[in-house]
Amino acid sequence: MGKKIVIAGAGIGGLCAALALAKRNFEVVVYEQSSQLGEVGAGLQLSSNAMHVLEALGVADEVNAKAFAPTSAVMRHYQTGKTYFTVLLGNAATQKYGAHYQHIHRADLHTVLYTACKKMNVSIHLGKGVQSYQQTLQNISIQLSDHESIEADLLIGADGIKSKVQACMLGETPAEFTGQVAWRGVVEANKLPKGLVKPNANLWVGPGKHFVSYYLRGGELVNFVAVQERIDWQKESWNEPGDINELRDTFAGWHPEVTELLSAAEHCFLWALFDRKPLKQWSDRNVTLLGDACHPMLPFLAQGAAMAIEDSYALAHCLASDVDTQTALQTYQNIRLPRTRNIQLNARKNAALYHMSTPIEQAKLAILSGLSNVGLSD
Ligand code: FAD
Repeated sequence: MGKKIVIAGAGIGGLCAALALAKRNFEVVVYEQSSQLGEVGAGLQLSSNAMHVLEALGVADEVNAKAFAPTSAVMRHYQTGKTYFTVLLGNAATQKYGAHYQHIHRADLHTVLYTACKKMNVSIHLGKGVQSYQQTLQNISIQLSDHESIEADLLIGADGIKSKVQACMLGETPAEFTGQVAWRGVVEANKLPKGLVKPNANLWVGPGKHFVSYYLRGGELVNFVAVQERIDWQKESWNEPGDINELRDTFAGWHPEVTELLSAAEHCFLWALFDRKPLKQWSDRNVTLLGDACHPMLPFLAQGAAMAIEDSYALAHCLASDVDTQTALQTYQNIRLPRTRNIQLNARKNAALYHMSTPIEQAKLAILSGLSNVGLSD
């Protein structure tokens, strides 16, 4: 066995890191603050860059078996349905990028990762959050939410946008409300008129709002994400049950492919979208961060989880190299920070693009045809 590594958080990033490190023969212990494992009932776009990593981690077959491969990503006008642009996915993406572009239910991806971790003897403790840590030259002392204190050679904060590990490393800074909320939900495909939802990543853009729909689980379910600009956010919770009638009212008058889908939806979740500025550093001696804990981003390039997945592999690769831990963590940060910063900033730009409403801005949309690199939205 190699070094003892503690990971805070068993989200997609934390579980991917646990798997990547266990495969490199590290002893990995994960602490998750929630008493139950799971992900919100919604979908996730896994672009080819993320699928490459999942392939290297040996779970791509399981992911492919549970996913849905869209034919294209299509951006359309919210009322007329006029197409602004189409990016071919499916076989075209596989040929171009060497891996599939998939849509998957978050819970399915989570189950695949959890099962693979258990097979590699990763120890996962639920209902125990990481509260703080102190470092000495020899090791790290980590305080848990049940007042237990444990020791490790290395601590990874994969504890999301409200990361306690980040706060302990860099000081408390509140995440900023972006002025946007996202409703998310899934609908059984057999409750919808046949052919209503096209087998694409469907993106509808309109003034101050956009809407995304796509299939999951081989076509059994349709996922939707509806984003709306909202000036304030009073509620304490960042995700909570949404009011489906309020959602229907908000998107009244949109294209029938949107409104009919919402008519069939019974439930939804509501998320306030928070953001942070890109960090200048995210490693401190033997402690580092990954995923939303160090680079949360708006979901408008569909890359937040993909970046957490890439981080996990890069981190394990650096730690397994023949250098001391601090050099490995610095290399990891040097590799990952410019890429994730770039994607954080581009995701913000898409927020403006998707909600443009004047004729000039609409014209800009019409001539935009190059947004094909890493995915479209949500
Ligand atoms: P999280 O998913 O936040 O996981 C953190 C985990 O840590 C949680 O389990 C939490 O309970 C736990 N935790 C928190 N604090 C502690 C603590 N102190 N101690 C221990 N455990 C703790 N990304 C994509 O790639 N494609 C998409 O299509 C996409 N769509 C999105 C749509 C929406 C509407 C939103 C909001 C996001 C979307 N994202 C997408 C982004 C993606 O969901 C996130 O970037 C991703 O989940 C981040 O993973 P993570 O593991 O870093 O953090």
